[in-house]
Amino acid sequence: MRTKIVATYGPGIAPRHILSKVLKHVDVVRINFSHANEEAALRDVDNVTSVSRSIGKEVALMADLPGPKIRLGIMKSSIDVKRSDTVTLRYGAGAEAKGRIPLGFDLYRYLKKGSIISIGDGYLNLSVEKLTNGDITCRALGSGTLSSRKGLNIRNGNVTAAPPTAQDVTIAKFAKKAGFDFIAMSFVRSAQNILDMRRKIGDAYIISKIERAEAVKRIDEISAESDAIMVARGDLAFEVGVEMIPIMQTRIIHSAIKFHKPVIVATHMLMSMVNNPMPTRAEVTDIATAVLSSADCLMMSDETAVGKYPVEAVRTMATTARNAEEIAVQAAQFKITNIEQGIAYAAKELADNYRTGCIFTPTESGHTAMTLSAMRSKSEIIALSRFEKVRRRLSLYYGVHSIGISYYRTTEDLLSQISGIAKRRGIRRYIVVSGVPHTKGSTKMLQYIAQ
Ligand code: PEP
Repeated sequence: MRTKIVATYGPGIAPRHILSKVLKHVDVVRINFSHANEEAALRDVDNVTSVSRSIGKEVALMADLPGPKIRLGIMKSSIDVKRSDTVTLRYGAGAEAKGRIPLGFDLYRYLKKGSIISIGDGYLNLSVEKLTNGDITCRALGSGTLSSRKGLNIRNGNVTAAPPTAQDVTIAKFAKKAGFDFIAMSFVRSAQNILDMRRKIGDAYIISKIERAEAVKRIDEISAESDAIMVARGDLAFEVGVEMIPIMQTRIIHSAIKFHKPVIVATHMLMSMVNNPMPTRAEVTDIATAVLSSADCLMMSDETAVGKYPVEAVRTMATTARNAEEIAVQAAQFKITNIEQGIAYAAKELADNYRTGCIFTPTESGHTAMTLSAMRSKSEIIALSRFEKVRRRLSLYYGVHSIGISYYRTTEDLLSQISGIAKRRGIRRYIVVSGVPHTKGSTKMLQYIAQ
């Protein structure tokens, strides 16, 4: 299987017997820091690490930062709202005591009569009817429950502040120390947000979550600066309207491809499987469409975090993606801009056209494997690295499998290790593409080996 799968951690997969089945199909586990604190996150990481070791699979970890999300304030108890009810929201101390729904962010000045506020999962929309002295009086357009810290969005609202927030920086520093491989930044608006984060936390692999209309407009500058891109369809749908999601998704994927960055398609891919063991026809078509349009990675949220059928859901995702890969074609012509890419391209063409078993790419940084993945080689790409960090980073990249190797001093050393791996896997003809051991620079060496 070439498509990578991210599963969001939560009570749905926490039991070891479930987690061990889920991780067989999963490459990355996401911990959502909108819901987890540091102590809980460390427990979750321990659980994932221990189960992944027990099944002999390296699984990478993604820390998803809350970003400047607008939320309801702390509520003593939740409130059920019915269609046409009047609901009054207010920011500031004592709002609940005054019979108002407390807000965690002062929204007042961003609203006007007719603004639409979407709460939580988006099933509960409120239409603003009146704005008086800090009170936001709304009519419920549907039914749902209001509870502490539920997220909310303003349709076409352009409200959130720029990330990273102080909380994002604290969590990102913690995540780096705790061994997370990827930092997902929420509500990115521009390349500057990513530069600001890098300045504050130093070296990190940053995935930009595209969930604001403004970010789609500036997608090329964001793709250029990010390590990877996520189409975060949950919040994006509230911002731009759900009917625009397919178009936005396509634009975002095209930009990621243009900048040779891996792209994750996220949210509601198998939402009905939270409560049912079978997906809908539309859901599996959504998965296949994402694969056919060159997504590297697909992500599960509620399906694994709180769903009743997480094992069935990951199996469905994996099988559907694998079926789609059979007819996936190279999405876009890879534009070669330097010699290293040219050598990698030659390796891909040789492997694809002469049907060698695979391309081995020994790597210190993962660079050549990432380039081959962006070229969408039809052959399996096996990255060989002695660095666990590099192997785990490659778990987001389409078509790349990583294997650990020992330190090698010479090219002969290296080729002999590769020959052993190839024999064990029953591969008789293959390509090796890499840098030259202990010399500066990237991809330089290309060999065809038949044994
Ligand atoms: C999304 O909005 O689609 C998303 C992935 O972010 P979160 O799950 O943090 O809301």
